[in-house]
Amino acid sequence: MNVHAPSNIKIGKSVCPHDCPSTCALEVELLDENTIGRVRGAKGQPYTAGVICEKVARYAERIHHPERLLYPMKRVGPKGAGQFERISWDEALDLTAAAFRKAEAEHGAESVWPYYYAGTMGYVMRDGIERLVNTKGYSQMYGTVCVALSFPGFLAGAGRLSGSDSREMQKSDLIVVWGGNPVNTQVNVMTHVGIARKTRGAKLACVDIYETGTMKQADIKMLIKPGTDGALAAAIMHVLFRDGMANWDYLDQYTDDPKGLEAHLADKTPEWASAICGCSVEAIIEFAHMIGKTPRSYFRLGYGFTRSRNGAASMHAVNCIPVVTGAWLHEGGGALHSNSGIWKLNKSIIEAKDATTKRGRVMDQGRVGEVLCGNPVDLQGGPPVTAMLIQNTNPVSIAPDQTRVKEGFAREDLFTCVHEQFITETAKYADVLLPATMFLEHDDLYTGSGHTHLSVGPKLVNAPGECRTNDFVHKELAKRLGADHPSFEKTPRALIDETLKLSSHPSLARFDEETWIDVGKDFETSHFINGFGHEDKKFHFKANWRKAAKAASRMGVIGDISGMPEWPGYYPAHEQADENYPFRLATSPARTFLNSTFNETPSSRKREGRPTVFVHPEDLAALGLADGGKVKLGSRRGEVTLHAKAFEGLQRGVLIAEGVWHNEAYEDGKGINTLTGSDQPAPAGGGTFHDNAVWMKAA
Ligand code: SF4
Repeated sequence: MNVHAPSNIKIGKSVCPHDCPSTCALEVELLDENTIGRVRGAKGQPYTAGVICEKVARYAERIHHPERLLYPMKRVGPKGAGQFERISWDEALDLTAAAFRKAEAEHGAESVWPYYYAGTMGYVMRDGIERLVNTKGYSQMYGTVCVALSFPGFLAGAGRLSGSDSREMQKSDLIVVWGGNPVNTQVNVMTHVGIARKTRGAKLACVDIYETGTMKQADIKMLIKPGTDGALAAAIMHVLFRDGMANWDYLDQYTDDPKGLEAHLADKTPEWASAICGCSVEAIIEFAHMIGKTPRSYFRLGYGFTRSRNGAASMHAVNCIPVVTGAWLHEGGGALHSNSGIWKLNKSIIEAKDATTKRGRVMDQGRVGEVLCGNPVDLQGGPPVTAMLIQNTNPVSIAPDQTRVKEGFAREDLFTCVHEQFITETAKYADVLLPATMFLEHDDLYTGSGHTHLSVGPKLVNAPGECRTNDFVHKELAKRLGADHPSFEKTPRALIDETLKLSSHPSLARFDEETWIDVGKDFETSHFINGFGHEDKKFHFKANWRKAAKAASRMGVIGDISGMPEWPGYYPAHEQADENYPFRLATSPARTFLNSTFNETPSSRKREGRPTVFVHPEDLAALGLADGGKVKLGSRRGEVTLHAKAFEGLQRGVLIAEGVWHNEAYEDGKGINTLTGSDQPAPAGGGTFHDNAVWMKAA
């Protein structure tokens, strides 16, 4: 339902669909039926609390961007060159369906690979593509690049993906933001931290590998080397046990083997950790004591520190700290990584899960380059991929090992249909290009992993040109491909309504009155007072990685779990700096880009400047490089050119390149993911975007 602002500008209620844990409730100025004005955070939704990030506040710039893709097109030049001519929707869909039928006839259904990700987090528009997968028996995709490392890490200990209500940060005395930068990626966390600081003098601690915007605001700054979080966590717990700050009553009641943990940590001293993570011994002890003395310590566990080959083990280690102190017993205490485990959405109608077709093989999203280049391990004895439908993702920019990704997409025998909002790097490789709606132009259902609100975002304005929804494309292709399922007969609103009913949530009509409902659990449940998520109800210090991987992964165990540590600690599986690759590079998120989304909007580009790498001034001097000079970085996967910026807020040997710029912003069109690797870390695969050993030299 719409309300009117005093200025008589009509206001529409919506939800941010982007790949961000905040899933903000929005109020959108509707200037006419086609045009939006300013976007604001809804004050009435207590997590959003009236605050949104600057990139979405200026959404008019994106939705009304002059370069939006408006019409279907077909390729008329070489793959990757971006030369297209306009065609009708019917011709585009007929061409796509014919290519899918040809692929199936020549190689079987598994040669078609629908590929999608989190460009929208709306369930209908993101996951509805699974209807084609499930009814046709096409190859399935396992989405690894975001959560495949962090989720098993959290599940190994807690057994369920949920945590203390994020609004409780307001009642905390110490908020530990570990391995995340909410100032750039989840601004609402800072709202709740700010209230706690103002009303109760709470402290903010930040653990990260460079001085982020969040760390700049922190009272306690723990600047560590990439991939060494597990060492710091182990040393903190060592001090907690050693100095009588472990809560033994809690440990005895709620955990699997606290005595075993204490024994395991006996030699994980601050001195040992200091040599690994680079923090001083005094700083580690002081931080541990602060945690030990503050019952209401809230650990907000980010994704950043898990984007490393040892990311799952690091998450497990850090997640053990509030268990040792019993912080979970207190309001304002405990931890949160993701609430993905609380929704229990039954998506069977959205995804046609009851289709009886034999399911196709499952392939790793992050291995798209290897899959398309025909790596037999990834193809699992099945046929080559010869046809793709791509929605909500831009693998030629964001997938790791970009050289291989481009090589794969350049294959002449691969047909690619890309349904997009802009002519992205991936769209340039399309044989058929389809224009897609943005979130304010369609209906969808959303959940927020950083809070507990279930929300519906309705269509508020008309789409420009001939933009059509993902749902439209699924249905039109289904017709042409003979895919049969009741879900193809339903409107997006009907799919949402049925999903809500199947999931025992209130019906859609309820959301027409108010965009969101809070489905958060009570204190006892969210704080695991009733027991943790494992069968024995205990928190597990001893990780069962096989079980954790199975719980989190569509492909089960990936990679070699035999070397993973059973106990929380440092797992040196990350890329190590050496003579040839003496630096460790992380490709961290920029404030006004969101992966490759928003890198097309002028104000975001202006704010971010140009592709840049932060380098310690002493490293610059040692290499004879100039602040602001052009440098080349090289990993085992390839080389990238950008500009160096002297930056003191990191340890020597560490490099930070913020933001996924358009590939064309770099020399030779080689984007930052030319440097990143697609190898599959244990226990369940995952994106290792912050784990790159590189060299650096003048360009
Ligand atoms: S903070 Fe995240 S969810 Fe909120 S408006 Fe920005 S991108 Fe969207």
